[in-house]
Amino acid sequence: MFRESLNQMTLTFTLTPTGPVLVKSGREAGADPTLVDMNFVRTHRPGFEKPTVFIPGSSLKGTLRSYTERVLRTVLGEGRDGCCNIFDETSFCGKRLEKENDTAKRYRRSCLACRIFGNTVLGGRLSVTDAYPPDGALAETNATEQRDGVAIDRILGSVAQGPFTLEVVTRGAFQATLTLENFELWQMGLLAVALRDLGTGLCPIGFGKTRGLGRMAVTLDKLEMAYPGRFDPQADGRDYATRIYPVSAFHPEWCGEESYGLTDEAPISLADLSPQLSDDGTLGRVAFRLEGDQAVRGALARAAGAWKTFALARREGET
Ligand SMILES: [Zn+2]
Repeated sequence: MFRESLNQMTLTFTLTPTGPVLVKSGREAGADPTLVDMNFVRTHRPGFEKPTVFIPGSSLKGTLRSYTERVLRTVLGEGRDGCCNIFDETSFCGKRLEKENDTAKRYRRSCLACRIFGNTVLGGRLSVTDAYPPDGALAETNATEQRDGVAIDRILGSVAQGPFTLEVVTRGAFQATLTLENFELWQMGLLAVALRDLGTGLCPIGFGKTRGLGRMAVTLDKLEMAYPGRFDPQADGRDYATRIYPVSAFHPEWCGEESYGLTDEAPISLADLSPQLSDDGTLGRVAFRLEGDQAVRGALARAAGAWKTFALARREGET
């Protein structure tokens, strides 16, 4: 769907552990004496001799998805209008829309979570990179430490499993970039809510959430809003240098019930946050950027307002 590239938002943010965090590698210690029972996931990075710990983009995306689904179920309920149930064939969008060949209909008839994250028959709007320590920080693997854990048998109260050793990260930082393409403003707003809750510990990451693991603070570093295919910051009666336009601004006809069923949303102005023009259109792309936690948070708060407007209208059955 959306074969053109119409709007593109890139958000760079840094996660800082506020307690122990464990994103499991899935590798068991086995015969390797250097590994503990549950290891933090690692990868080889160019320029680093030893493999470094990192948080895979798929883990971050999965965390954001499950949290977003919870918000949707809470606000709009289960089903097409809120969030489908992947374990129920009659509910899961990927199964329900398997035989639907029209991509516009697939999008329109998908639940709100699938419209952002995609499913087996619909591409998602969101991608998330792996999160690495920013250059210089946590360069080697020595910033991890070991913790002992046991699993208690709930009935007998005795040790059911363990003790086993967990490898956790307790300090350092992980930086990742999230990209939303061809998006509606409510989608950006809903992600803003999830990111905020990620930073307050309501939406922990990785293993052992019920043990208090996975709490991280979020710092918003940079937001870039880009319009591919534009040669002028001010054109078509729009201001591409200071405003966030939803995908529906470029194709109002996609709002119809015969089409994608997009919501007709008013653009968000960020002019008062003084965005910097980072691409002036000479090469066929206009982009602006905001830097620093406060400015980016301000922009996301406005997007969260678009989500609120959307959700309230849906509750009243207007869309
Ligand atoms: Zn769905």
